[in-house]
Amino acid sequence: MSILIKLYNWYICVIKNNMLNLILFGKPGSGKGTQASLIKNKYNLVHISTGDVFRKNMSNKTDLGMLAKGYMEKGELVPDEVTVNMLKEELEYHLPCEGFIFDGFPRTSYQAEKLDALLTKYSLNIHLTIALDVDNETLIKRLLNRGKSSGRADDQSEDKINKRLQEYDKKTKPLIEFYTKQNKYKSINGIGEMDAITARIVNLLDNYLNDRG
Ligand code: AMP
Repeated sequence: MSILIKLYNWYICVIKNNMLNLILFGKPGSGKGTQASLIKNKYNLVHISTGDVFRKNMSNKTDLGMLAKGYMEKGELVPDEVTVNMLKEELEYHLPCEGFIFDGFPRTSYQAEKLDALLTKYSLNIHLTIALDVDNETLIKRLLNRGKSSGRADDQSEDKINKRLQEYDKKTKPLIEFYTKQNKYKSINGIGEMDAITARIVNLLDNYLNDRG
């Protein structure tokens, strides 16, 4: 696509203010990836999962993948600056588009602030942060199960899962306040049949879009 057409499309998106930029939020195993894949087509959104991008880099043995591997296998977060640079590249690659679902990003206050700054640079913003609420006991069962079929190293032991849950409590949970203050935070029950959870998200999004007009 020529740069002029790209710029024109982006301009139209911003002027019509019809983008929808979402964050799917929640603890590891809360279903963010599954739900993002289910709703992206309905709203024509680009799904960016930072975990997936890291895993792809790991299997391609890129420098980024090799760096991320050590942190991921221990259940720790990849350093902020590395993650933000990667996210910036992904976002800019996909612009212009009708909107984004960010899955697994942001995970720290630093990342949230950088995301706001990056979007502002393109006259964009986050519209909604939707959290999938699931209790720890259910999450641990889900992740251990997923570990059996996916082979994901960080889903293999309860110790690694607990480490990820601790990282969430320490570094990611404060974002609830960050987005609540911006009046953008909504949460739904993330337990139940997959379709029922999708319907809860769709209901929330449709109400938001109706109100926006
Ligand atoms: P996920 O697939 O979202 O569960 O992420 C798997 C792992 O990738 C996490 O435990 C982190 O090690 C790393 N990761 C994914 N997203 C981020 C992020 N936004 N910041 C730092 N590390 C991340």
